[in-house]
Amino acid sequence: MAMANLEVRFWGVRGSIPTPHEPNMKHGGNTPCVEVRRDGGPPLIFDAGTGIRCLGRELLNGIPPGGKHKVHLFLTHFHWDHIQGLPFFDPLYRADYFMQVWSSVGAEHLQSTLERQMSRPYFPIDLTEPPRRPDYTMAPKEGVEVEGIQVEPFPLNHPGGCAGYRLSAGGTRIVYATDHEPGDESCDRRLMQMAGGADLLIIDSQYLPEEYPARKGWGHGTWLASAETARQAGVKQLVLFHHDPARDDSAVEDVVRMAQGEFANTIAAREGCNLTL
Ligand SMILES: [Zn+2]
Ligand SMILES: [Zn+2]
Repeated sequence: MAMANLEVRFWGVRGSIPTPHEPNMKHGGNTPCVEVRRDGGPPLIFDAGTGIRCLGRELLNGIPPGGKHKVHLFLTHFHWDHIQGLPFFDPLYRADYFMQVWSSVGAEHLQSTLERQMSRPYFPIDLTEPPRRPDYTMAPKEGVEVEGIQVEPFPLNHPGGCAGYRLSAGGTRIVYATDHEPGDESCDRRLMQMAGGADLLIIDSQYLPEEYPARKGWGHGTWLASAETARQAGVKQLVLFHHDPARDDSAVEDVVRMAQGEFANTIAAREGCNLTL
């Protein structure tokens, strides 16, 4: 079987709230949005944090109106930092772009939740007015193949719930596990199973171990827990993700160095970073 080429691009890597401050700009201030393509095919987008705005501009760059394009957006959950960029995603305003939104957590409220965000008094433009008519789909537990990539959701431990996603194509595997607090036995076991042997694990690493006790129950993990998960699961590369708003670039670099002491092949997610697997 020919290995598929999976390309990952980070458009937003910051947790909780955008942080467009100078000391943070190397890693970036936009909230979560990750793009994945197989062999240069159409994009699968994971989360609609503020990073999705620049992705939308890039998608339309040089493409005149007309034709038919499809965009798949997979949401992990509905906390602000994962949906707040959606109203600023330009393809939403083009009749030649058709968007399919997938969710597994709270999928029964998927449409109403997104429509409420994009309606008065929160926003001047309504999501239900044409051409803004996405299709809303529950991501099936057993997984679904989209643009040649098998996408499987699985539960993470987060207040209100959150979905991780495992992406597989031709033997290459990526696990996206943002907004996860280790400590729930069944979620931890499932994550370990899904991440087992993955080429890339992108995982919530918001806190320092010493910060964690005061943040227990907030739904996020530490770099140390991420490094341990990566080692136990035998992944090839670890990407620390969902950086704390208070962590500036030099603090993120310190975290990476400490994490590399536990799991050598570790990097921090950075806006604009491309990884080819
Ligand atoms: Zn988040
Ligand atoms: Zn969250």
